Amino acid sequence: MGKLAICPGSFDPITNGHLDIIERASKIFDRVIVAIFNNQAKTSLFSVEERIRLIKESTKHLPNILTDSSDYLLMDYAAEKNADAVIRGLRAVSDFEYEMQITSMNRKLNPEVETLFMMTNNQYSFLSSSMVKEIAKYDGDIFGLVPEVVHSALREKYRHIK
Ligand code: ADP
Repeated sequence: MGKLAICPGSFDPITNGHLDIIERASKIFDRVIVAIFNNQAKTSLFSVEERIRLIKESTKHLPNILTDSSDYLLMDYAAEKNADAVIRGLRAVSDFEYEMQITSMNRKLNPEVETLFMMTNNQYSFLSSSMVKEIAKYDGDIFGLVPEVVHSALREKYRHIK
């Protein structure tokens, strides 16, 4: 079966920053599941189905990527899938505190699954889904920040909202 990693997140929507982490993970692991976990603290723009479609289309050049969504706790999901690792991306120091809390709790919940961190590619260090949504909402230029399918989906979404 080989080594399996999970890239968890909200992916509302997937950005080139996410994609960079996913591509790098796909070179190290035999299989990578990109899994959407609904973050209760965030209200989402895209439905889970829409987010899955955008992830699938953005990763179709990578043969070892699977896309999924889950309502379980990440560590229960990881155990069910028999995952070897969870991969998270780190952008700025501000990500660190939050990630450290979650990782410590996750290790307590399931010490078998290792959490690995990947430093963002410098060009994406200020990139987040919320930033992209904010810019797109006001017709700003998001070229180079998101895959083409996401660009169209955002344009479509905000056309209806306006
Ligand atoms: P969550 O709500 O779980 O933080 P996100 O969709 O915001 O979900 O992020 C999912 C993962 O991708 C997180 O590990 C986050 O740190 C990482 N990530 C998001 N944007 C970037 C970026 N620009 N560069 C590197 N990693 C990123």
